[in-house]
Amino acid sequence: MGDGTVVGFPGRSGRGGTSRVAVIGAGLSGLACAERLAGRGLDVTVFDKGRAAGGRMATRRADAGGGAGSPRFDHGAQYFTARDPRFRSRVDDWVARGAAACWTGRIVRIGEGGGIEESPGERFVGTPGMTAPARLLAESVTPRSGVRVAEVVPGDGGWQLRDEAGRDLGSYGRVAVAVPSPQAVPLLAEAPDLAAAAADAIMAGCWSVLVRFPRPLGLAYDGAFVGASPLSWIARDSSKPGRDAGGGETWVLHGSPEWSQRHIEDDQAEVIARLTAAFRELAGIGPVQAGYLAAHRWRFSIPLRGLEQECLYDPERGLGACGDWCLGGRVEGAFLSGLALANRILADGTPV
Ligand SMILES: Cc1cc2nc3c(=O)[nH]c(=O)nc-3n(C[C@H](O)[C@H](O)[C@H](O)COP(=O)(O)OP(=O)(O)OC[C@H]3O[C@@H](n4cnc5c(N)ncnc54)[C@H](O)[C@@H]3O)c2cc1C
Repeated sequence: MGDGTVVGFPGRSGRGGTSRVAVIGAGLSGLACAERLAGRGLDVTVFDKGRAAGGRMATRRADAGGGAGSPRFDHGAQYFTARDPRFRSRVDDWVARGAAACWTGRIVRIGEGGGIEESPGERFVGTPGMTAPARLLAESVTPRSGVRVAEVVPGDGGWQLRDEAGRDLGSYGRVAVAVPSPQAVPLLAEAPDLAAAAADAIMAGCWSVLVRFPRPLGLAYDGAFVGASPLSWIARDSSKPGRDAGGGETWVLHGSPEWSQRHIEDDQAEVIARLTAAFRELAGIGPVQAGYLAAHRWRFSIPLRGLEQECLYDPERGLGACGDWCLGGRVEGAFLSGLALANRILADGTPV
C-alpha cells in the first residue's frame, strides 16, 4: 500500500541512520503499522509470541486437529465497525477480497427484566473467521511468529531486542510496541514517560465460553448485549457469514468485565458451568446437551480506560507504542493507532 517514496532516517541520537524497524505484536495495530512502514520502503521485522497473526482477532477450531468439518469459533473480537474513512476503505478492500463480510444478524440488548431492544448498526466480521483480515495484512510483512520479545535495550545503532532466553533478536533504529498495555509497560522501560503512560491504561479480563449445540436453539436473535448478568455478550457465532456448524449452532458467551475479573483465576470447568447456566437461564433453554464446550481466558480483552491519544512516540529515542488501549478500544481504533504510529515514525525520517 506504499506510494513509492522510500524513507531513510538521519543519524540522530546515536541510532546510526538505520532504517530497520522492529514491530512487536502482530495484532491489527502492529500489522497496520508494519504494513505502512514496509510500504514506504523501510526494513520492517514483526515479532509475535503467538502461532499466527491476529492477536485478539482470534478464531479457533472445535477440535485441536483443526479438521475441515470442525466448527470455528471467534473467541476474541466478535465483530468490528468501520466509521473512519481510512478504516472503511480498508474494510471495503477486505470485503472485496473475501476476507470480511457484513454480519446482518439480529443484534439486541437484553435488560435486567428480560426486556429486548434492537441494537441496529453495520457490523463486519472476518471470513471465514476473525483472523482473516490480519492474515491479509500479514502477507506484506511476514511476522516472525512464536517469538516473545522480552527486552528492548539500547544497543548498536539504536535498540537491541532479546527474547526470554536472552537471545539477540537484532538491532533496530526504531521500535514500535504493539501489544496490550500491561505487556507494553516492561518493553517501554527505557522510556519511563512512555511506560508510565501505558501503565495508566486499564484493561479488563474476559472469560469466553464456546458452545456447540447439535440442533438449533430457536432463539429470536443472533447476538445480544446482556445487562445485570454474569454475561455481557452472547452470540450465535454460526449466524456469521462463512461459518458452518454442521447442522447445529455454535455460541460464544462472554463473561462481563466485573464477573470475569472476579473469576479470572477460576478453572475452566467452573467458568463453563457458571456461564452456561447463566446463558440457559437468560435464553430459557431446557436441558439441551451441548456437543462441545470450551473456555478461553483473556487476561487483557478490551480497555476499560484508554489513553484517547492516537499512539505514543518518543522521536528522540525512536520508541513508540500503539494499540486499542491508545485509541478507541476496538479493532478500528487499533488499526488507526497503528497507522498513526507509522506516520510518526515516517515523520521522523527523511524521504530519500
Ligand atoms: C473477548 C474479546 C472481545 C472483543 N470484542 C470486540 C468487538 O466485538 N469489537 C471490536 O472492535 N473489538 C473487540 N475486541 C477488542 C479487539 O480484539 C482489539 O481492540 C484489537 O484486536 C486489538 O488489536 P491490537 O493490535 O491493539 O492488540 P492485539 O490484538 O492484542 O495484538 C497484540 C499482539 O502482540 C503479541 N504479543 C504480546 N506480547 C508480546 C511480546 N512480548 N512479544 C511478541 N509478541 C507479543 C500478541 O500475541 C498479540 O498477537 C475484543 C477483544 C476480546 C479479547
